[in-house]
Order: sequence, then structure tokens, then C-alpha cells
Amino acid sequence: MKTITILDIPFINTTQREFIIILDQHIKNKEKSFVITANPEIVMKAEDDPPSFKSYINKADYVTADGIGIILASRMLKTALPERVTGFDSMLKLLEIANEKQYKIFLLGAHPDTLKVTVEKVATNYPDIQLVGYHDGYFDWDQNDIIEQIRATQPDITFVALGVPRQEKWIAEHINQFSHGIFIGVGGSFDVIAG
Ligand code: UDP
Repeated sequence: MKTITILDIPFINTTQREFIIILDQHIKNKEKSFVITANPEIVMKAEDDPPSFKSYINKADYVTADGIGIILASRMLKTALPERVTGFDSMLKLLEIANEKQYKIFLLGAHPDTLKVTVEKVATNYPDIQLVGYHDGYFDWDQNDIIEQIRATQPDITFVALGVPRQEKWIAEHINQFSHGIFIGVGGSFDVIAG
């Protein structure tokens, strides 16, 4: 898949719709994929904090343009990206596909109260999803039961909502312990779903 490099970050050149088709193909093939939906905050972090954040970007399979500023920059460089591909929209589209295809999902992140409501809403709105596990986002970094839960339940998609850059760091440091699945940082999306 073609990328367009802006400020040294290779953004995937895709529409939201095409991107979900790509991820669905990885799920079908039982492949593993690390997705960063890069908003301007992420782009700035990559600039300001190069050694660590840059290493997460290098580890990611896909970096999407989650911000109008990135789209505008791409136009000025005459290598226009078609549209924003946001963490929240990607999460909603993946939930739809997961419901349609009865995929297994895992929710990691947010405050326990928010997570509880998110879990209820997902179960109600997407009744055919297999919600195989969840854990709130306030844990000791080396807490192994989360890894064990994910390894045991083998979700097709793990939504990681720990905020930037914690979610990218968590995925980058742990993804090699999992055999397959989409791992995507979705920022405050659980808060939005919980309402
Ligand atoms: N969060 C978390 N653990 C933390 C810090 C944040 O689970 O240690 C959650 C927070 O509760 C919220 C989400 O991460 O649900 C996104 O947080 P924030 O809005 O700060 O991040 P952003 O969307 O700006 O990346």
C-alpha cells in the first residue's frame, strides 16, 4: 500500500472505507497489524520526542492521517491524501464489521466506569460481536494479566484507549506477544461511545 511521507511520517494513502477493507483482510488472514491513527498531537510528539515516539511509528504497520492539518499539508505537497482516517471512525466501522462477521474484540482502556458503559453499549448495539474481554486503562505497566487475557482469548481486534502516547507505547511494547489481530489506538473513543 502506498504511503505519503509528511514530516518524516509515512501516512497510508487511503480512504476510510478502503482502510477498513484492508484491515478486514488482515483479520481474515489471521495476520497481525499495529495501527496508529495520527492526529496533529501525534505528529508533534514524533517531532519533539523523536527517539521514543518515532520508534512506535516505525513499528506500526499503518499510520493514518487523523487530522485535517495533515490532509492540508498533503495537498500543499501536491501529494494529496484523500480524507481523514480517524481512530473514532475506524473504531465504529470495525465494530460494524465485527458485528456482521461475529469477530472477537477486546477493549483496553478508559476509567472503569466509562469502560463499563462502553461494554454495555457495545453489547447492546452490536449484539453479534464476541466481546471476549476488557480491562480499564489504569494499571501497572507490567501487569501481566492483560497480556494473558488477550493471549487466551485471541481477539481479532483490540481497541486500545489509553491516550497518546501511552496507547502506542503499550501496543509497540507488547504486540510481539500476540499471534494475530488488529491493535489500534483509539484515544478518547470509549468516552465518546459511553456518552
Ligand atoms: N486513559 C487511560 N489510562 C491512562 C490515561 C488515559 O485509560 O493512564 C484513557 C482516558 O481515560 C481516556 C483515554 O485514555 O478514556 C483518552 O485520554 P485523553 O483524552 O487524555 O487522550 P487523547 O484522546 O487526547 O489521546
